[in-house]
Amino acid sequence: MSQDPTSPARTAILIAGGGLAGLSLAVALKTSLGHTFHVTVADPALGAPPSESSRASAFAAAARRMFEATGVWDAIAPDAQPILDMVVTDSRTLDVVRPVFLTFDGEVAPGEPFAHMASNAVVTRALKDRARALGVTFLASSVAAFEAGAGEASVTLADGQVIATPLLVACDGGRSRLRDLAGIRTVGWDYGQSGIVCTVGHEHDHEGRAEEHFLPAGPFAILPLTGRRSSIVWTEETGRAERLCRLPRELFLDELETRFGHRLGEISLLDTPAAYPLGLKVARDFVAPRLALVGDAAHVIHPIAGQGINMGFRDVAALAECLADAARLGMDHGAADVLARYQRWRRFDTTVMGVTTDGLNRLFSNGSQPVRFVRDLGLGLVDRLPGLKSFFIRQAAGITGDVPKLLRGEMP
Ligand SMILES: Cc1cc2nc3c(=O)[nH]c(=O)nc-3n(C[C@H](O)[C@H](O)[C@H](O)COP(=O)(O)OP(=O)(O)OC[C@H]3O[C@@H](n4cnc5c(N)ncnc54)[C@H](O)[C@@H]3O)c2cc1C
Repeated sequence: MSQDPTSPARTAILIAGGGLAGLSLAVALKTSLGHTFHVTVADPALGAPPSESSRASAFAAAARRMFEATGVWDAIAPDAQPILDMVVTDSRTLDVVRPVFLTFDGEVAPGEPFAHMASNAVVTRALKDRARALGVTFLASSVAAFEAGAGEASVTLADGQVIATPLLVACDGGRSRLRDLAGIRTVGWDYGQSGIVCTVGHEHDHEGRAEEHFLPAGPFAILPLTGRRSSIVWTEETGRAERLCRLPRELFLDELETRFGHRLGEISLLDTPAAYPLGLKVARDFVAPRLALVGDAAHVIHPIAGQGINMGFRDVAALAECLADAARLGMDHGAADVLARYQRWRRFDTTVMGVTTDGLNRLFSNGSQPVRFVRDLGLGLVDRLPGLKSFFIRQAAGITGDVPKLLRGEMP
């Protein structure tokens, strides 16, 4: 391992991509394997000023447990809003009254909310600070090419540096260059929909309530942030979403208000709306020789259930556990059998979540009366069955199935 932290010609692991997935993997590995395990993150964005984006995400209870175990949560907590309950409605856009079909209490255990809303920028900053404190090496450059050899991969960065590593991890997002370089194909499709994201201020307190309104164009979610603010994720057909985002602010606000309703009093727009195209994309393989895919590089899903990065954290925790087990036994942590264990752990679960969110989106982005009748019957049924409701809440919290140690709040 190189002794010069600014020029790691050799590193135990090279993570390409310093988004939420890449940074949390770096922090998880350093926390569990200590200072002798040299972790490097390469991302051109590491050299740029912090993002101005006010995007926020729902971080499931399992993610919070991991952040607590890795010493990140204290820096996030002041800006994290617990989701205390949730209501689901199904109506037409202009309906004045929106009957509530489903309600959820938001706890998985006494005092433990199933999710928190927090700004992506706050979580990214907390992860970066923690990674720096733990001695992770940051390189502000992208991975341009790599070649897998028998015992290690040789990775070339865009700035010309060449780094040898037993394992390269692609955390480089939905359009992963590394996935393409490895020849890994994906399955999926575009939904022809985009998610309009913005932040609103409102007169009354949301009291920690999240709302999901199933409107004919797709789900319209109101997600509580700290203070009298909420984050909006509003699904529309892509052309319409782009036209809406180009509207003058007052006209956009009128359109928003029609969907938002008046329960929280007067509303104001706190940032500039932006539209993100939505699709489903799952990698056929999660590993290749000396390479593992993590986060959106492995799977992109519809945000209808707020599970995208939470699935990424499941990858992070599973990979960290596979690598920690191998490293402690003195095994080559980038070897094929270690990577095969990671793939077995994550691929089935990912496929199930991809199919579920795809089905939910098709079912709920549909204005047909018979379809509405059937889905409302289903929602009403779930609402009356406490066992089923609790199952859904535990699923959303990420604490069901074969949960990796970190997501249970334990070190791998
Ligand atoms: C509208 C919307 C709402 C969402 N809401 C939620 C939610 O509530 N809850 C949830 O769990 N998920 C949500 N998601 C999903 C979530 O935003 C993503 O899953 C998450 O941001 C993916 O993180 P990532 O780190 O895998 O990838 P990214 O955030 O895309 O990061 C990739 C990083 O890789 C870098 N990079 C790219 N190429 C290279 C290269 N060649 N070399 C080095 N670095 C490179 C980039 O600069 C970037 O920093 C939502 C998504 C959308 C679109």
